[in-house]
Amino acid sequence: MADTPLFQTTIAGSLPKPSWLAEPEKLWPRWRLEGEALVSGQRDATLVWLKEEEDAGIDIVTDGEQARIHFVHGFLERIEGIDWGKKTKMGIRNNRYEVEVPTVTGPVRRRGPVHSEDLRFSRAHTRRMLKIELPGPMTICDTIADSHYGRRADMAMAFAKLLNEEARELTELGADVIQLDEPAFNVFMDEVKEWGVAAMERAVEGVRCKTAVHICYGTLGSEWRQYEEIFPAINQSRIDMVSLECAGSKVPMSLIELLKDKEIMVGAIDVATNRVETPEEVARVLKSALKHAEASRVYGCTNCGLAPLPRNVAAGKLKSLAAGAALLRNEVGRG
Ligand code: ZN
Repeated sequence: MADTPLFQTTIAGSLPKPSWLAEPEKLWPRWRLEGEALVSGQRDATLVWLKEEEDAGIDIVTDGEQARIHFVHGFLERIEGIDWGKKTKMGIRNNRYEVEVPTVTGPVRRRGPVHSEDLRFSRAHTRRMLKIELPGPMTICDTIADSHYGRRADMAMAFAKLLNEEARELTELGADVIQLDEPAFNVFMDEVKEWGVAAMERAVEGVRCKTAVHICYGTLGSEWRQYEEIFPAINQSRIDMVSLECAGSKVPMSLIELLKDKEIMVGAIDVATNRVETPEEVARVLKSALKHAEASRVYGCTNCGLAPLPRNVAAGKLKSLAAGAALLRNEVGRG
């Protein structure tokens, strides 16, 4: 590990879709292409972002989720046992949002590999470390209604098994990091401890590459000590890396002391503003993590997905992220 550079950079996952592919600056954009043209457009957009990430100097790149409109539904679309016509109105993330969601009406099963083709394509076009994101089992269960399993914990375990099959395949195809996105971890403190961490571990069981979990709260709320409750359980889990939003957030950085056995992807890029951070600002956030974690465990990352931002803003943020990490690398190297 001694020759691994400090403060490697990566992103939470998503990047904006080019305006010729989907409506820009929307959380739920509509595709502008269809059929084969859509698949081909998604591949083209993936190439654009792999190149942008490489040129910016990002160490662990992603496909920017160019082939999915939404991080949960992109996965669920290829799962059996879900009735998309049977919509149930549900308050998700503990009633922060009310949405109509599809309903699980039978045992869930993959119709086949979900993201294999996307991963194969990205792997063929970059030599950098490659990360791919999957929705976490708890967040899936908070985004879909259940009329089959009866207990959310049971439904989560059923999805965790599918995610595990998917994660193992993606690893074989050359993924270097498999990340589970679990925004729900920040909402249901008790359930995280009761079954959320267990479902996360089931999803990455036997996965031979690095594994990560991304936890975030979006732009809501003012006081976020609840990480204190779930970090000990996450620290004891088999997951390798934890991605947190730290730029401009209310999360006290000292809480990462509760994750002493994990690598920390420190969010140093705010996704809630179009203002592009300076490299110095990025370096300052990463440096503040060094008071609470060894430098060898600190990665530079974005707070969350960059998908809803204008494309040039996202590209600028990628550059600042990598440049900020390089600044700190130089500084610490000299020290
Ligand atoms: Zn997030």
